[in-house]
Amino acid sequence: MSGQSPTLLTVDSRLSGIRFSRRVYIPRITGTLLCMLFISSVLITQPTSALMWVLLGINAFVWPHLAYHLSIRSANPMRFERGNLLTDVVLGGIWIGLMGLNVLPSVVIVAMVGMNSIAGGGFRLFVQGMLLQLISAAVMIGLFPHRLSLMTTPLQLYACIPMIVVYPIALGYVTYVTATKLADQKRRLMQMSTHDGMTNVYNRHHWEQLLRDEYEICRHIDEPATLALIDIDHFKTINDSFGHSVGDEAILFLTEELRNGLRATDVIGRFGGDEFAVILPDARVTDAVEIINRIRQRLAEKRLTQTPQLSIRISVGVAEYRPTMNQYHDWLKAADIALYMAKNKGRGRTEVA
Ligand code: GH3
Ligand code: MG
Repeated sequence: MSGQSPTLLTVDSRLSGIRFSRRVYIPRITGTLLCMLFISSVLITQPTSALMWVLLGINAFVWPHLAYHLSIRSANPMRFERGNLLTDVVLGGIWIGLMGLNVLPSVVIVAMVGMNSIAGGGFRLFVQGMLLQLISAAVMIGLFPHRLSLMTTPLQLYACIPMIVVYPIALGYVTYVTATKLADQKRRLMQMSTHDGMTNVYNRHHWEQLLRDEYEICRHIDEPATLALIDIDHFKTINDSFGHSVGDEAILFLTEELRNGLRATDVIGRFGGDEFAVILPDARVTDAVEIINRIRQRLAEKRLTQTPQLSIRISVGVAEYRPTMNQYHDWLKAADIALYMAKNKGRGRTEVA
């Protein structure tokens, strides 16, 4: 039990609610201002009390800011903002009623507010909104039946044009920005789920998937491929004698040497700790051993910046694909046994399965 109240939201769900409120803030300001334009064009043709004009002013100039500030300060901004969208819908219904169902302005309100509610809360919010709008418009017509007047004059038509043109473009832009951000987040999540956070080579899970793919390729076409498992020798001693940061530097150093020494088509993965694995497609075991030994040579020659007295030694187990291997695990096992042999035979060497 976390002991948290079920109504308390996690920080990230609150933040995504606040972002949602921020996304609808500018469109709401724009929408209410443009609505005010054509609603005014209808109200001036009818006897309209000062109170109605004040209400229209509050709707256009106060409501968007009030909605935003109340929402971001609420305990659940996402839910609060959905409530705000329903309030937009009800206000729209009220103005439709007070405009006496004047056709074009009413249709514009229904379309724009409907677009908002479906974009912000899906089909359910849209249906709820439509019903509420119908009810609020009907109540207003019931209260002020004498205002009923369906005809739209040319002036009222022109007053609707800015809303019809500007608002869908603004909402389209907001949708585009949101979609771009989502695509970017998806790309980053993909990267995180397939790569090792520290070295940025593939993580074990994804690397094994790629090994399985390579195994399938080898099985279907007669192409060689070799697998190498690499482990730093006495890594614990490096950590214990020089500290974890030197250990980390050693791991990054080895990664860099693998990247430099291998071909672009070779697939590097970190198995965790100080163990790495490499798939060398289209390489016979002799080629692989040659490449690996060159990397070993360079590692022996170079020094870590923090500890010039220390050179990194590695043990490597190498296994070439054999048609007798029934599954990719057999291939991995063969390389693992070879690595074990390299460790047993005194480390700092490459053994072939
Ligand atoms: P051997 O020669 O047999 O490989 O011995 P070894 O000391 O290298 O032993 P082993 O490969 O089992 O050592 C793995 C150690 O790596 C254990 C763990 O404390 C350390 N380690 C794992 N991940 C990290 C890391 O990200 N950074 C550092 N600095 N150490 C790590
Ligand atoms: Mg080791």
